[in-house]
Order: sequence, then C-alpha cells, then structure tokens
Amino acid sequence: MGIHALDEIGSDSICKVCISNGGSCCQGCRHLATGLGCQQRNTSCTAWLCGFLKYFLYETGLLEEWNDFWKQVPGQEYREDFTPELFFVNKPLHLPDIRSLSVALAADLQELSKSRIAIGFILKLREKMDKYIDQLDNSRLPSKKKTKIKRKIKVLSIPFHRFHNELYNYRQNGMK
Ligand code: SF4
Ligand code: SF4
Repeated sequence: MGIHALDEIGSDSICKVCISNGGSCCQGCRHLATGLGCQQRNTSCTAWLCGFLKYFLYETGLLEEWNDFWKQVPGQEYREDFTPELFFVNKPLHLPDIRSLSVALAADLQELSKSRIAIGFILKLREKMDKYIDQLDNSRLPSKKKTKIKRKIKVLSIPFHRFHNELYNYRQNGMK
C-alpha cells in the first residue's frame, strides 16, 4: 500500500535528483547490495519520509493522511521492522496521482543543485525542511512559533518555481 502510494505521488523523480547529488537515504545500509540495490525493503523504510517528501506532502495537504496511516502500522524500526503478517487498520491510505507535482519539484531541485556552487546545497535544504516540518508536528508549540516556522519553510521554498506553479493549479482545480 505504501509503495503504491509513493508511486502515485511520483516520489521516484525526486529521489533520482537526490541520489544523483549523493543524498540517498540507503547509503551505508547493510541491506544495500552493490549493483543490485535493496535486498530487504521493509515497511519502515516505506513509511519513513525525508525532508523533500515531507515538504511535498505538507504542501499538498497530504502529510496528515500519510502520518495517520503509518501510526496504525506496528513494529517499525530503523531500516527494519517487526510488522506482523496481518494487522488491522481503520484508515486506508489514499493519495492522488500527483506525479506532475513531483516532476516539477524534481526539476526545481535539479536546477538548484546546478546553480548553487556549494556542495550538497540541496541536501542541506532537505535537512532544514525536515527539521522545520517536524517542529510543526509538535502540538504544544505556540501558534506564533508555528507561524514563524511556516514562514521559514516558505522562504526555503522560494526557488521552487515550477513546483509552485503546479501546486497553484492543484489547489485551484484539484487533480484527477
Ligand atoms: S532521502 Fe528522500 S529523496 Fe533522497 S533518496 Fe531517500 S527518499 Fe528519496
Ligand atoms: S533496507 Fe531501507 S535503507 Fe536499507 S537499502 Fe533497503 S530501502 Fe534502503
């Protein structure tokens, strides 16, 4: 279900740019075999979101849907899981086909990685996005602080021109 959802949102185009910039989240994992890829993709790795994907779901209003679904899945650990064969969920995971938005974000990231001389610029951006969006998840955070964080996310996302265009259309018209 998770893999299908990631496919629907088109996360692979964002991952391609990230990986070509040395940002693969699989780096150093013992399940990664040279030339073969992951030998044990598991529930936890599917559920986990990096800063780019968090940002993507945050802007498209789907982050809560994602988090709510995975909160129901037991046994998740770092790069492995102990999820039972069978378990019940109350909320299914439904993400729309929004590949055009991820293609747009991937193109923005690609351009940014070429235009910024600093090595690892987009990866630092990914970490900042990750940190800020996690902070927003804290229900005890005062609303003034939340507003400040949202502003910071907005500033970080200024270079995402293509993505913002697509996002505008998505919010205006919805997607099929
Ligand atoms: S860190 Fe994020 S964008 Fe990069 S490869 Fe992993 S999931 Fe994809
Ligand atoms: S187990 Fe997870 S982190 Fe390790 S190679 Fe597979 S997908 Fe990547």
